[in-house]
Amino acid sequence: MDIPSQVHDIDARSLSKIERVELTVSGIVQGVGFRPFVYRLAKALQLCGFTFNHSQGVTIELQGTRLNIDKFVRSLKQTPPPLARIDSFSEQVIATQHECSKFEIKQSQANDDAQVAVSADKSSCQDCLDEINDPNNRHYHYPFTNCTNCGPRYTLINALPYDRKNTSMATFEMCDQCAKAYNDPLDRRYHAQPVSCPRCGPSLSLTSATGDILATKETALEQTVSLLKQGDILAIKGLGGFHLVCDATNEVAVTKLRQRKQRPAKPFAVMCSDLAMAKTLAKGSDAEWQLLSSAERPITLLARNNEQDTSLSSSVAPGIDRLGLFLPYTPLHHLLLSELNRPLVATSANRSGEPIITAADEIYTHLGDVVDAVLDHNRPILNGCDDSVVQMINGQLQVIRLARGYAPLTLHWQQQVSAHTLALGAQQKNSIAFGFGHNLVLSPHIGDLFSLEAEQYFINTLATFKRLYRFTPQYLVSDKHPEYASSRWAKQYCQTHDNTENSQVQHHFAHILSIMAANQYTDKVLGFSFDGTGLGDEQQLWGGEAMLADVHGYRRIAHLKPFALIGNEQAIKDPRRIMLALLFEQYTPDELIALNIAPIQSLPTSVISNLYQLWHKKVASQQTSSIGRLFDALACLLGLMQKTQFEGQAGMLIEACANQISAQQLIAANIHFDLPLVDGVWQTDMLWQQIVALLLAPKPLDNKNAFIARAFMDCLARAVADLAAQYPSLPLVLSGGVFQNRYLLSRCHDLLKQQQILPSKQVPVNDGGIALGQLWYGIHHQQ
Ligand SMILES: [Zn+2]
Ligand SMILES: [Zn+2]
Repeated sequence: MDIPSQVHDIDARSLSKIERVELTVSGIVQGVGFRPFVYRLAKALQLCGFTFNHSQGVTIELQGTRLNIDKFVRSLKQTPPPLARIDSFSEQVIATQHECSKFEIKQSQANDDAQVAVSADKSSCQDCLDEINDPNNRHYHYPFTNCTNCGPRYTLINALPYDRKNTSMATFEMCDQCAKAYNDPLDRRYHAQPVSCPRCGPSLSLTSATGDILATKETALEQTVSLLKQGDILAIKGLGGFHLVCDATNEVAVTKLRQRKQRPAKPFAVMCSDLAMAKTLAKGSDAEWQLLSSAERPITLLARNNEQDTSLSSSVAPGIDRLGLFLPYTPLHHLLLSELNRPLVATSANRSGEPIITAADEIYTHLGDVVDAVLDHNRPILNGCDDSVVQMINGQLQVIRLARGYAPLTLHWQQQVSAHTLALGAQQKNSIAFGFGHNLVLSPHIGDLFSLEAEQYFINTLATFKRLYRFTPQYLVSDKHPEYASSRWAKQYCQTHDNTENSQVQHHFAHILSIMAANQYTDKVLGFSFDGTGLGDEQQLWGGEAMLADVHGYRRIAHLKPFALIGNEQAIKDPRRIMLALLFEQYTPDELIALNIAPIQSLPTSVISNLYQLWHKKVASQQTSSIGRLFDALACLLGLMQKTQFEGQAGMLIEACANQISAQQLIAANIHFDLPLVDGVWQTDMLWQQIVALLLAPKPLDNKNAFIARAFMDCLARAVADLAAQYPSLPLVLSGGVFQNRYLLSRCHDLLKQQQILPSKQVPVNDGGIALGQLWYGIHHQQ
C-alpha cells in the first residue's frame, strides 16, 4: 500500500511540536498481535495515548512530537506484525490533551457494522515449537500451545470482536501464569485469545471407538503413538475437525482404512514430520517446498519421488503420479509425528460426501466401525474447516481447496459495496461469499450439497458469517441451476424477506468472473471455462466454453460440439456410457463389438445394444459440451478406469499416463490430433475419430495410451491458443476444474507466452471459486 510521506517541507520546529492524532486501521488487525505491537512501538517512541479493538478494526490515539508520530505511522505500515494485513488506514489530527502520560490498551468495543477481517488459523510458530520441546518450559509437550503469532482463529471464534469471551476458550479460566502473559503487552501471548497451559487449558483424552476413556493427557498421546505403530486407525481431533489417521508405510493399515471407509481409489493426503521426510517421498522446486512449509501449511500436490520412495504403501494414491503432502501445523501434530518419525495418512474424517466431523460424538455414531480409537480433546471446534489443498503450476500457486490457513479469504475492494451482497456458490465444492463495506469475503470450502448434513453445514456456515459480520443479506446471487440447494436457499430467502433481490449468474460465466474478481478486473476478457457440467442457456449442459466477457455479461464464441450422456446422471458415475455415445456416432453396435478395444469387449453385448437404443432414440440422453466429460470418456476408452470413484479422477489418470512419455517421444512418433473450430463449434467427433483410429492402428507403439493422452491434451491446448490468437489484445482467463490439470495448463501457458493470462491467485478455478465470481457480478449490479 502507499505510504504517503508527510515529512517533506516541514521545518524542525513543527516536527518537535506536540500533536495528537487518531488513527483508524482496518484489515486483518485483530488476533494477530496488532495492539501489543502498537503498544511497544508507542512506548519506544515516547508517545502517549491508547488503542482499542472494535468491529471496524483498531483505533489508535497518539500524542507526542510530529516527528515521532510520523515514525510510528511509517513503522506500522512498513513492518506490521507477521500475520497482520492493513487494508485501510486513516489519520486525523485532534485536540491535544493535558492529562496524557502513558500509553494503554483499552477494553474492546462492540459496534454495529463489523468490518474487520476474521483471520484464518495459522500453524505453530517456531517460538512455540521451541517451548514444547524444552523440558524446562511450562509448555513442554503441551499440545495446545500457541501465541499471537500462531494457532487457531476462525475455527474457535463465535463473534466479533475477537476476544476470549467470544471464543471456544471462554470456559477455560486462565491460571496465574497464563493470565500474566495474557495481560502483559510485552509478552508474545498478550491477548492471544486461546492462550493456555497444562495447568489451565484443554487436554487430550484417548477413547475407544465407542467413547470409553482409555487414557488422558500425556499418556493418551503415548498410547496413540503405540496404536498407530501397531497399524490401528485413529480419529484424531485437529484444528478444524477430525482426521482419520494411520501409518502410511503400513500397507495392511492403509488397505484396511480403504475397505472400512469404502473408498477404493481416491488419494489420501500424507502428513510428514518435516521437510526432510517430505523430500524422500516427493520431488519439488524451491517454491513448492516453501509453499509446503508456509504458515498456511496446505496439503501440497507434489510429484512422487520414485527413486527414493520405497516406504510408502502403494494404496496411498493408486495409479496417480502425485502425492498430497503436508507438514504438522499444531503442537499436537508435531508431538505425534516426532514420536512416530514416519509419514501418516491423514484424511478428513467424514461420511462419504458429507462435511468434516468436528465432535467426537459424531465419530462414535458415524465412524465407529472405521476407527479403532479416538484421540479427542475438550477445546470445542466452533467452525469446521478442512485442510487446504494447493499446487504450483509454472511457478504459480493454484488453490484447489480454499480452507484452513487461507480462509476466510478477505479481499479489499477500493470501492464500497452498496447493499450487503451474498453469493451462494454452486452445488459441488460449495463455498459462499459476502460483500459489505470494502470487503469481499470468501468462506472456507463447505463441500458438495447432496445430503441433508451437507446442507445443514452450509446453513451453519452462513449463520456464522452473518453473525460475525452482522450481515443481513439484501442482494443475493446464485447459480442459474434452479435445483442447486444453494439456488433454492436464495430463492426461498428472497420470498420470505422484504426488500431483497435475487440474481442468477450462469455457471461458466461465474468461473470467468471468479478470476476477474481475484484480479479486481472488470473489462473485457477472453475466458475459457472448461469444467464438468453446469447449466447453460436454453437448458443446455455446458462445460467446454469460450466467452468474451466483462463484469456485465458474456457472449459464447466457441464451445465443444455436444455429445450424449446416456442415462444423464448415470453417465457421470459410469462414463463408459459417454465413451459409447461418442463411439455410436461412428459405429453401429455390431461394428463396435467387433473392434479390438478392450473396454468395449469387457461390456456385455446386451448392455451395448440397450444403451444404443437409448442413444439412438434420444431417451434420457442429454447433450453436453463438457470437456470434463470428454476426459471421462477418454479415460474409459484407454482402460484407465471404468467407473468414476471421485471427481477429477479421469484428469489425474490421463495426466499420469501422458507423463510416461516425453515431448520428444511424441514428436518423434509424429502423432498429433486436431480439434477443428467450425462456426464456433469445436468438432468433438472429429477429434474422437482420430483417437479411435490411432488406438486401432496396427502401428506397433510401446505404451500407445501415453501417446494418445499426451496428444489429446496438446490438442486442447492448441485449440485454446488458436482462438486466443484471434484476440491478441484481450487478457485471458483459464477457469473451470479442468485447468487443475497441470499438464494441460502448462501447455496452455507455453503456447500463450505472448498473451496476458489473469492469474487465479488464491481463488480456486474449480467450483470452489464460483461464489466469488457471483459476488463480483452482484456488487456491480446494484444501485
Ligand atoms: Zn506461537
Ligand atoms: Zn495456564
